[in-house]
Amino acid sequence: MIPAAFDYTRADSAEEAIALLGEHGDEAKLLAGGHSLLPLMKLRLAIPAVLIDIGRVPDLSYIEERGDGIAIGALARHHDLETSALLKEQVPLLAYTAHQVGDPQVRHRGTLGGTLAHGDPASDLPAAILALGGTLVAQGPDGRREIAARDFFQGFLETALGADEMLVEIRVPKVAGAGWSFQKFNRRAQDWAIVGVAAVVNGTTGVALINMGSTPLRATAVEEAVRSGASAADAATAADYGTDPPSDINASSEYRRHLATVLVRRALEEAIS
Ligand code: FAD
Repeated sequence: MIPAAFDYTRADSAEEAIALLGEHGDEAKLLAGGHSLLPLMKLRLAIPAVLIDIGRVPDLSYIEERGDGIAIGALARHHDLETSALLKEQVPLLAYTAHQVGDPQVRHRGTLGGTLAHGDPASDLPAAILALGGTLVAQGPDGRREIAARDFFQGFLETALGADEMLVEIRVPKVAGAGWSFQKFNRRAQDWAIVGVAAVVNGTTGVALINMGSTPLRATAVEEAVRSGASAADAATAADYGTDPPSDINASSEYRRHLATVLVRRALEEAIS
């Protein structure tokens, strides 16, 4: 499939990308790794008139300690996350989840900022960021603002980012020593999740679901059950509360609901053990 014609421009800084977004308005799209946007363009589900390539903006690929947390530049690629010694030590859920995304080619191109800004409910890393209680930093013409991950995903492929904003940084707490688990159920190793679960148990329990609604979701009923002392099996019975899983070629909605309870139980058992 061939995308519709578009103009291409490259930004050398976040400020330049934001100015170009302001100049071109709704006609423009940022291009990071291109591994979600380009497939949409080839299917003509996205027809931007202008692509603003941010893939070579320097200084946005860092993964660094910042007090009690880790700050990650939006252009850090999935491969950077999966191989980061700092993440493996301080936020192992994130390094492990990055390793579960697609295949090596996808992981060498796709960026953390891109997967979050895309907001696909079937994506892996948004669930990990939700479970960790992360914070996203958006930059626009008036400066930077912080958005809690739980407030970021607003609808199918819709986020809290304004049309003239760029996601520049993602912050997660250090959770070295906390229990965690990532469960991804798919048909082949490199496939997207039919359903997935990310869980952290460290006093402030975070559990998030993949492909169980129109956005990446927190399983708040499960979190409350764990906080009130329920066993993993009992808490998992609440896995599908508040969800609206799709039916598609891979699974019916009912099957996804059942799968969520199985995967949440497995995730909690692994995280708590
Ligand atoms: P892009 O495609 O460049 O951009 C995606 C969207 O985000 C666009 O709308 C773009 O304008 C916007 N955007 C990008 N960066 C920013 C920013 N910094 N600020 C604001 N907006 C921005 N993902 C999974 O989670 N699990 C999988 O198993 C998986 N398998 C895959 C298999 C294949 C074959 C492919 C092609 C992709 C797969 N992916 C999977 C998706 C992959 O992780 C993508 O790379 C990722 O979802 C998007 O990141 P990107 O950097 O490529 O974003």
